[in-house]
Amino acid sequence: MTRPGGVWRNWGRSESVRPQRVEFPRTVAAVQRAVVAAAAQRLPVKAVGAGHSFTGIAVAPGVLLELDDLTGLVSVDVERGRVTLLAGTRLHQIPRLLAPYGLAMENLGDIDRQSIAGAISTGTHGTGARFGGIAAQVVGATLVTASGDLLRVGEDENPEMLPAVALGLGALGILVEVTLQCVPAFVLHAVERPESLDDVLRTLEDRVAAEDHFEFYWFPHTDRAMTKTNTRLPESAPRHPLPPVGRWIDDTLVGSGLHQVACTTGRAVPALVPAINRLSAKVWGDREFTDASARVFATSRSVRFREMEYALPAGNVRPAFQALRALVDERGWRIGFPVEVRFAAADDRWLSTAHDRASGYIAVHRYWREDPTEYFEAVEEIMLRFDGRPHWGKMHTIGADILRARYPRFDDFVALRERLDPERLFRNAYLERVLGG
Ligand SMILES: Cc1cc2nc3c(=O)[nH]c(=O)nc-3n(C[C@H](O)[C@H](O)[C@H](O)COP(=O)(O)OP(=O)(O)OC[C@H]3O[C@@H](n4cnc5c(N)ncnc54)[C@H](O)[C@@H]3O)c2cc1C
Repeated sequence: MTRPGGVWRNWGRSESVRPQRVEFPRTVAAVQRAVVAAAAQRLPVKAVGAGHSFTGIAVAPGVLLELDDLTGLVSVDVERGRVTLLAGTRLHQIPRLLAPYGLAMENLGDIDRQSIAGAISTGTHGTGARFGGIAAQVVGATLVTASGDLLRVGEDENPEMLPAVALGLGALGILVEVTLQCVPAFVLHAVERPESLDDVLRTLEDRVAAEDHFEFYWFPHTDRAMTKTNTRLPESAPRHPLPPVGRWIDDTLVGSGLHQVACTTGRAVPALVPAINRLSAKVWGDREFTDASARVFATSRSVRFREMEYALPAGNVRPAFQALRALVDERGWRIGFPVEVRFAAADDRWLSTAHDRASGYIAVHRYWREDPTEYFEAVEEIMLRFDGRPHWGKMHTIGADILRARYPRFDDFVALRERLDPERLFRNAYLERVLGG
């Protein structure tokens, strides 16, 4: 991730930095030493995961800690279905680690390239009105604090800090271990269909309530949506996975290869975008399969893009989406990437975008070589009107003044940060903006 020449760049190519020093700690003790050394030199220090945040949340101008050598299983509590992982463990490594114990993660997002610490720290989520984001699965964590000491948080130690530490924006310390509440391994029956957008919107609330995991993508400039409906089944249910060739054709050739061609063509000749989107809506996603949960939740995303995503009270999703649709019609932009709509249960994490309210998410994307500013700013205005909270890892322009009013526990988080990191050892410009100093 850190390139020769010492420049770090994020996946979306929206952020980069040349840190003063990059370290690759292999042990918890090495993380402690790195934090103490940075503090002695008055250099800010920050861990990064996979660099998949689109915001500057992971930017580390001082000491950058890459935790790719701090991965794997620490312990398993088979009886309670809990596992403790080293913080740098990537999500795609976890199914293999859990398999011997018959366990799985309860829910996942669209991809599995992120580190577990990075994913929970920004509130990464999937879809499903009865299921929370990944941070809601956290029942314990160990943190290296600004003093270099270890702080354990969980049911038995410092339980009052768990709702902050489980989704801490990287602002409270360096996570070295994360304990997850898992569920018995399960399979998912997936149905992916192109449908009429109006039909989807008309039946939205019912489908979200009735299905385990429902989401849809809308292709701007068309009246089509691609729906994804995943139903949870016991692990013993017969599996009908996509054959490897079919998966390759759908995910790599259609999902990525043709999409790459579509994006490049749409950028060169914007007038073609509506026709390309109509074609995409036809060829993308008409399939049904049953497979291990992690293989169904996670897909690959090889066409680079930038993204903004807002969480709304679930009941506001439909009107906000309609306003967004009208905006795209009015403004004459040519948007080649779909709009994604997902749902999640309320949770108790202080800075969760779903804190204390059942939520729906609306995400907009743009090809990384196109300037997203005008589109994203106009969409952001709509999302703020509908009581939106921005995803911490996806592009937005909001600062602490607005965020404070949208998170009832915002000041509690800021107070805990003040206690754990009074000198702001874990600071960067993004945290200054969203937390107010
Ligand atoms: C292609 C793509 C698909 C995506 N899909 C989804 C999705 O489906 N749902 C969703 O909600 N989001 C999604 N995201 C956003 C992504 O999940 C988040 O931005 C996530 O934080 C990225 O994890 P990471 O490991 O790359 O973390 P990074 O971006 O590297 O870091 C994120 C934050 O975590 C902190 N951090 C990392 N490690 C530690 C540690 N050990 N201790 C303390 N803090 C730490 C960093 O300092 C930073 O503040 C997607 C992003 C991309 C690029």
